Amino acid sequence: MTGPTSPCGTLRESTTLEKSEVPDFRSRELAIAGNFFFCEVCNLVCEYGDPLWNEHQSQLKFHKMKRMFLLRCSRCKKVVVDAYAEYSPERNQFWCKNCIGDVGYLKFRSAE
Ligand SMILES: [Zn+2]
Ligand SMILES: [Zn+2]
Repeated sequence: MTGPTSPCGTLRESTTLEKSEVPDFRSRELAIAGNFFFCEVCNLVCEYGDPLWNEHQSQLKFHKMKRMFLLRCSRCKKVVVDAYAEYSPERNQFWCKNCIGDVGYLKFRSAE
């Protein structure tokens, strides 16, 4: 007869989730299709991790880099820069300005 193997104590990990998530930001994150940086001095666009971006982080720190997001329009599925998209809290969606122009701003800001 073999002796029962007794568990030598179980570790209890208490995972406390204390995140104060802003729903607005979260849905924005979901809509983000990518992000890139725009240098006003070089007038160039680069992506995070690009050789150009690396150069700006090391040698060209004085260049002003604007961070831009690419968002996916929930209506036409096109990817546009965030300046060309708007968020509707009523729909919880991002739409590009084309689509907003198509249906009208008031309709865009209603849940119908
Ligand atoms: Zn630059
Ligand atoms: Zn659209």
